[in-house]
Amino acid sequence: MKKLVSIVIPAYNEADNIFMICESLKNVFAEINFNYEVILVDDGSSDPTLNKIQDYAATADNIFFLEFSRNFGHQLAVKAGMDHAFGDCVISMDCDMQHPPTLIPEMLKKWEEGNEVVYTIREDDKSLSKGKRGSSNLFYKTLNLLSDIELEPGAADFRLLDQKVVNVFRNFHENEPFLRGLVKWLGFKQHAIKYNPAARFSGNSKYTVKKMFRLALHGVTSFSIKPLYSAVYLGFIFSFASVLYIPYVIYAFANNVEVSGWASMLMTIVFFGGLQLIILGIIGIYVGKMFMQTKNRPNYIIRSTNIQQH
Ligand code: UDP
Ligand code: MG
Repeated sequence: MKKLVSIVIPAYNEADNIFMICESLKNVFAEINFNYEVILVDDGSSDPTLNKIQDYAATADNIFFLEFSRNFGHQLAVKAGMDHAFGDCVISMDCDMQHPPTLIPEMLKKWEEGNEVVYTIREDDKSLSKGKRGSSNLFYKTLNLLSDIELEPGAADFRLLDQKVVNVFRNFHENEPFLRGLVKWLGFKQHAIKYNPAARFSGNSKYTVKKMFRLALHGVTSFSIKPLYSAVYLGFIFSFASVLYIPYVIYAFANNVEVSGWASMLMTIVFFGGLQLIILGIIGIYVGKMFMQTKNRPNYIIRSTNIQQH
């Protein structure tokens, strides 16, 4: 029996990429001895992405779609695809051809050798803008510094997961999953493959600076409470510093030394005011996360799908 590979592809306003990615997958799988299905997750697109998927699905019996009721974001789109995949393994990849489908045979080979997670590392590529590469590096550096997991720079959401791992994921109900970190956290037998990203086939990046910043902040705060410790450490440092300073103030007072400087006073107040707000904000993020999670709402809502035809 041939093994079934599920390909999960999140698509947000990718109408012009659907045909290309489906055809490329068809060509790749024509060469290897696996069955495959494609699960395209339309993440609340406002362009004809869904129509293009349905058109293509009409010509093939292994193209499935999930239509979200609105934009829930890339991570949840991938999660939804995995929740609905039937394959012996699941490969998640982007819709825009930046994750080369030609890498799939190698990933499958590593899987058959016994690896349960085959993830990919993007080689630094000149075709990506300087800003993107810089921000991506900064993202991983900050993440590793502030959290308890170690992520390799360039690890994107192009990876193969064995059915075993996918089943574990089904029990995760985080309302903002950070898949990259979760996969690392899960363990299992992991293997990395390097690849050169291609240029985006059509359209522009859907990751705005705002979305990227959110993902970074989220990546850190969902994997560790290290930021909370910053308040404790800073508190110790400044208490200690003030203990050293107090004798001087007493000395100055006792000896009638003119204590000058409203400027230094004001600076201190402003500095500590800011610092306290930042720390309050950090605590707020964690409280907010607890609030969102306790509401226990569904993580994503599916408006339509053709999957029951399985
Ligand atoms: N995407 C999505 N929902 C979003 C943003 C992006 O499903 O809110 C999809 C997008 O269609 C693509 C993948 O996630 O298939 C990666 O997005 P993109 O290529 O824009 O990111 P980049 O490669 O620039 O990091
Ligand atoms: Mg892309």
